Amino acid sequence: SSQIPGPGPSFALHPHPSPVPAERRAELLANPGFGRVFTDHMVVINYSEGRGWHDARVEARAPIPMDPAAAVLHYAQEIFEGMKAYATGNGGASLFRPEANARRFAESAARLAMPALPEDLFVESVRQLVAVDRDWIPTTAGASLYLRPFMFASEVFLGVKPSAEYLYMVIASPVGRYFKGGAETVSVWVSQDYTRAAPGGTGAAKCGGNYAASLVAQAEAARHGCDQVVFLDAAERRWVEELGGMNIFFAFDDGSLATPPLGTILPGITRDSVMALARRDGIPVREEPYSLDQWRADAASGRLREAFACGTAAVITPIGTVKTPDGGFAIGGGENAGEITKRLRTALTDIQRGIAPDPFGWVQ
Ligand code: PMP
Repeated sequence: SSQIPGPGPSFALHPHPSPVPAERRAELLANPGFGRVFTDHMVVINYSEGRGWHDARVEARAPIPMDPAAAVLHYAQEIFEGMKAYATGNGGASLFRPEANARRFAESAARLAMPALPEDLFVESVRQLVAVDRDWIPTTAGASLYLRPFMFASEVFLGVKPSAEYLYMVIASPVGRYFKGGAETVSVWVSQDYTRAAPGGTGAAKCGGNYAASLVAQAEAARHGCDQVVFLDAAERRWVEELGGMNIFFAFDDGSLATPPLGTILPGITRDSVMALARRDGIPVREEPYSLDQWRADAASGRLREAFACGTAAVITPIGTVKTPDGGFAIGGGENAGEITKRLRTALTDIQRGIAPDPFGWVQ
């Protein structure tokens, strides 16, 4: 083993004794799908009360031994992040706003009564894994290396209380496009029976429990032939909040954009970036509640021109049709991405991949 020097804390490197051979790796990278192929290494950092964070290391990706009484298995004290490394044309790799993921991770930790991982340690952990597994970054169009930092309660104890021990890890997975259709429109199902988050709950935190609770709603969407579920607010079942794993934007005939306000939704880094890009280009953006009734009326009248979902995995994906228990409606013809959606998508991905200048300092 050796120390990997970096700007932040140092990590011990224990290289994989038998990494995937280059030929097999090339095969896997040609058609990675989403989330089933993994790189050779992982990051592990231990936390224990009293000692704090210790034993930062990069080692061979492998199963983790776990006691059946580990707290996470019972009370779901777990948080995660999702971000990507992009191949830049010159053989390099870029990360997009990793410090924003670090901050959100710390905020999720606070909500789940977990210790904060210092933000420089988070960013450095991701850089280390990308550096070691850089040959796993796909170079085909639309593909990237998805990075999954996560942290869970590992104390062996069945009492309901914040764990005294945690494991922080990062794994990486080369991915193609999230939606099979690529840049074509997707359909969404508006759930009336299930909600995702309530005021005072965990909606703004990226914790595994939120996703466990969304699965029946996503299954309902799939039964109705839809790609994603849209959640309404828990109190009135009236206001559009977000999708199962993406935020949502609406584009109007007066050239403005709107998106639901923060509070019970996940504060998406793509959402924030889209707002910044739009405002840079003189497009007004409102963060304001938007009701399902208004959505339907605006789609019918033509006031609503476009709607799109956005997130790290989905990038910017146009929404073509909306289905609800009371019937469905189409947006802007339903078939193709609209002009604003396409423009913002290109602006975002060109910065992420180092094709366009980066006036916001988003790329590392
Ligand atoms: N909402 C939810 C529920 C999500 O899981 C995600 C994906 N992290 C997003 C929104 C989009 O967030 P981001 O743009 O940071 O990926």
